Amino acid sequence: MSDGPHGGHPHRSTRGPRGPRKQSGGRGRSGGGGGGRSGGGGPSLGGGSGGPKSDGRGEPVPAGLPTTEFEKFELAPNLTAAIAAAGYIKPSPIQDAMIPVVLDEKNVMGRAQTGTGKTAAFLVPLLALMDEVEDATPDGAGEPRGPVRILAVAPTRELAIQIATEAVKLTRFVPVRTVCCYGGTPLDSQIRALKNAAIVIGTPGRLLDLISRRALKLEELDAIVLDEVDRMYDLGFRDDVDKLLAASKNRRQTLLTSATLNDDVERLIAKHVGEHERVIIETNTLTVEAIDQQFYFVDGRRKQDLLMAVIKELDPQKGLVFVRTRFSVDRLTYQLQQRGVGAELIHSGLPQKQRERILQAFKDGKFPLLIATDVASRGLDIDDITHVVNYDLPQSAEDYVHRVGRTARMGKKGAAVSFVTQDDGLLLTAIEKLINKEIKQNSFPGFELAKPEAKKPEAKKADRPPGVPPWASVKRRRR
Ligand code: ADP
Ligand code: MG
Repeated sequence: MSDGPHGGHPHRSTRGPRGPRKQSGGRGRSGGGGGGRSGGGGPSLGGGSGGPKSDGRGEPVPAGLPTTEFEKFELAPNLTAAIAAAGYIKPSPIQDAMIPVVLDEKNVMGRAQTGTGKTAAFLVPLLALMDEVEDATPDGAGEPRGPVRILAVAPTRELAIQIATEAVKLTRFVPVRTVCCYGGTPLDSQIRALKNAAIVIGTPGRLLDLISRRALKLEELDAIVLDEVDRMYDLGFRDDVDKLLAASKNRRQTLLTSATLNDDVERLIAKHVGEHERVIIETNTLTVEAIDQQFYFVDGRRKQDLLMAVIKELDPQKGLVFVRTRFSVDRLTYQLQQRGVGAELIHSGLPQKQRERILQAFKDGKFPLLIATDVASRGLDIDDITHVVNYDLPQSAEDYVHRVGRTARMGKKGAAVSFVTQDDGLLLTAIEKLINKEIKQNSFPGFELAKPEAKKPEAKKADRPPGVPPWASVKRRRR
């Protein structure tokens, strides 16, 4: 029997309750490591956004949940019930491929397109391996207890919150507490909540801070998950990731997920992971087929007018507009508002509470356009984003994949529109290479500029006024 890389895993084989088990029986309101209500919303998951429960007590499993295809994994009943309650009926391909391997206690590098359910692909099997989940009774009763056994690390606060939300959903019927830790929120309530937490999700800096305060102890960690690890490197978390991996040396399993892979990730795997399985859901294009991708070649000074025209034409119900800098996010949003467009903005310069509030309002459909920097490009899971607009092309081709991956999630349809200026030629080519697909060029009457190759113009609609030459002779650099 080939065991996982750390050999001789006591956890699963013994399967008994490890450590002192708090069976205080009653499910009273008291105790539980304090403060569910302090500080404006849950102590752990950031407040204000109608976030998930934070006390970690399980609810009874209701009757009448549908049966799902997840039953084939033979997971603990309360976990299967939570999956059904979440409305997941059929595992996605990455879930199908990854769940059995993680259940086997292997290290895994998982890679699949964005929006394909990677979060549950790692959470479901890791939860299934927890004693509390395995032993849960139908009433979900029991006191949540530490120490931390699952640690998931995410590059951004929003992504951390999203993973935590998913974890809370999946632990609904078991006495397991999830705590989400990120900067910009009070430390003390987080520290209190951590006391009985079994699952911790967070951003690297805050997690290390909590470790150095001895509020977060990783000695008994079962598994660490690095979600979107390439992005963490982009954001300069390389040393932090190293430290987190070093601080959790005794872990049984290491899981990495991302939609893109690069040399940095390979080095990390070689250094910290060792033996592992790669679960890769191959598609010949990196971007999801259901995304209709087009670009407009445009004079940089006319982008805003083009955006107005595009908005008018496409009438996005839920559109995400990516802009390069915070400053231009602020400016563009203001100008759009002046022009009567329902636009709000999000970037890392806003207070956390406000970011969450705006995101929630956007999710709730309170306004149609969210103007954002790349802070919103990774991991953000907002249902039904109809359009992604790259007002400025991203700095790297990988970022393009992540940005457009915000739409067409889980089999839905979506459109991605990119504004390409004369300076963007190389980048556009790099993107097309990476996604192994040519992005369709489109044009708007009055905004036409051409790319250099005499490509057949794609008539967008028959309503282009006759006599407007759609393709002028402006060159686009291309190698
Ligand atoms: P990824 O990490 O691959 O970008 P997510 O894990 O964020 O994708 O999942 C995208 C969305 O799909 C989430 O809203 C999640 O709740 C939902 N989802 C995940 N698995 C399933 C499933 N099996 N059936 C239906 N919806 C699912
Ligand atoms: Mg994800």
